[in-house]
Parts: sequence; C-alpha cells; structure tokens
Amino acid sequence: MRKILLLRIGLLLSAAPLWAQQAKKPLPIIDMHLHAFSHTDQGPPPVTIGAPYRDWSAMDPGQGGGNGYAGQLLKSATMCETCLTSAPSDDALRNQSIQLLKKHNIIAVTSGTMPYVRRWQQQAPDRIIPGILFTIGDPTQPLDSIRHYFQTGAVKVFGELCLQYQGIALSDTVVEPYLKLAEEFDVPVSVHIGAGPPGVAYFGASQYRARLHSAFTAEEAMARHPKLRVAIAHAGWPLLDDLLATLYTHPQAYVDLGVICYILPRRAFHDYLRRIMEAGFGKRVMFGSDQMVWPQAIEVGIQAINKATFLTERQKRDIFYNNAARFLRLTPEQIRQHYQ
Ligand SMILES: [Zn+2]
Repeated sequence: MRKILLLRIGLLLSAAPLWAQQAKKPLPIIDMHLHAFSHTDQGPPPVTIGAPYRDWSAMDPGQGGGNGYAGQLLKSATMCETCLTSAPSDDALRNQSIQLLKKHNIIAVTSGTMPYVRRWQQQAPDRIIPGILFTIGDPTQPLDSIRHYFQTGAVKVFGELCLQYQGIALSDTVVEPYLKLAEEFDVPVSVHIGAGPPGVAYFGASQYRARLHSAFTAEEAMARHPKLRVAIAHAGWPLLDDLLATLYTHPQAYVDLGVICYILPRRAFHDYLRRIMEAGFGKRVMFGSDQMVWPQAIEVGIQAINKATFLTERQKRDIFYNNAARFLRLTPEQIRQHYQ
C-alpha cells in the first residue's frame, strides 16, 4: 500500500514539470495584420519608429520638405517616446518575428509580396496564414494570378489592400473585379483605412489623402458585395464617427488595431479603442500589430491592449482571438490546435 502511494507520488512529481510547461504556454493570439517584408522595405536600414510616438512634429517645407520629414520620422528619435530600430537583415527580421510569434503563441495573417510570404510560411507553417499585399496596377499581381492564389488557397486573406496610398477607395470601380473574385471564393478582405506614416503624401505616396481615413470609403463596396467579409485595417483612425456609423450600418465589417496600437500616444489609442468598445462593437475588434520591419512592435501592441484598464479579460480574449477566429471562420479543430 505504502509502496503504491510512494509510486503515485513519484508519478505526480515526474509529471509536474510537464504540467508546469503546459500551464506556461500563453493563450493563443491571432494577429490579423503582420507583414513579411524585406528589411529594407521602409528605406535603407536602420530605420526607427516610435512605439509610441510622443508627438507629431511640424514639417518645415523650407527644410527638405517631405524627405526631410521622412528623415526626421525614420532616422531620428526626435518624435519618439520610445524608439524601435529595424532588424538588420531579412533573416533577422523573419527569425525575430517568428520567434515572437512562438513566444506569445501567435497565429498571424501575414502579407507582403508572395515570395516573402511563402518564405515565412515555410519557416512557420502552423503560425502563418498567408495574405497578399495588394495595390492596383501592380504588374506582378494580375487578376488571373489573384484568382489562382484564391483557388489554390495560397492566399487565405485578400490584403492588406494598400489602396489609400494610391488615392483609391475600396468602393472605387477599379477595385470591383478583385472584390468580385474575393466574394466568389469567399476570401475575406483586409483593407488599409486609416493611419499610414504621417506626411507620407509628401514622401512616397503623393496620392495619399486624409479623407481616405474614413470607413465610409468601404461602404459602397460592402453594399455591392454583401457576402464579403471586410476587415478595416487600422480601424479607420482617427475618424471615429465614420467608423462607428459604418460598423453599425454594415454588421459584417470588423476592424483591426494594426499600427495604432503601438505608434499612437498610448492615451490616444486607448481613448479610440474605448469609444469603439463602449459603442458596443467589442465583438468586431481584432488585434493586429502591423509589424513591418520592427519585430518588437508586436510586443508593444500586445502590451497596449493588455494595459487597457477599461477592458475586461473576456473583452481582451475577444480582441486577441475570438473575434478573428469567427471572422476567419476557423474550424473547431483549428481552434483546438491553437489552444494545445
Ligand atoms: Zn496598413
């Protein structure tokens, strides 16, 4: 009897490390907005980004104009409260990002050019949901190739659609053939509506316009394609009223918190998120990092949500996982695997 008891205690003790290990694994997070980029994507490295910024300084058109401002933004720490520095190589960027996905148990909708997305997917097949970074008129992305990606499952999310940088709205007719395809293959769409780099209209995206921050720009597209699932990346920041009216009118629309969760002064981000939650849209807010070339941005973004004292634990789980799982129509089996 005593022997059996000792044996049992022995079994319990030997099982303890395994149990402790399992208990330590964090609950899964879905990042709706990760990028698989070259480390030079945001300019010659190293480039900096505020996480968060302290303020948005003025541009002096007499002091280098847009390029001068870009330099201030990406090459100096003058606007940052905390500055992140970009990864030094493609390998470092990919490895560091994937390491963080593993550390925080993240599954990430990942977009970039297809060769980059494939490379990241090869390295972490169970953590990368492939998307595609898309602009209108890119000769490497003809309609036929998009159809092929949808048909074969090479692309599971159509986006991020970076139309705002081209001065194009989701509802513009030029986007129609692509939206028809996405609807036909039931591929959800992620469209950039909101924050690009401040001042980018003067250094690299001359057609970028403030009015395209409005979620209203997606309205006609959604009305024309009612079966389409649409994620408004960057949550249409800072045009809150437009966003709330859009979410209210089009219940199929979700938002992701990409980039605003780490670049905005923390209080401004929290105010924006709180207003969305208080208006009753907590089931349609999804975490997104919008990590580009600064892997640590993923952690700052997670922290920004975790530190929001106005969110309950349940609301945080919805933002970090449940809402995206529903939006992406993950199967019970996929969800079970994420929680394993
Ligand atoms: Zn974006």
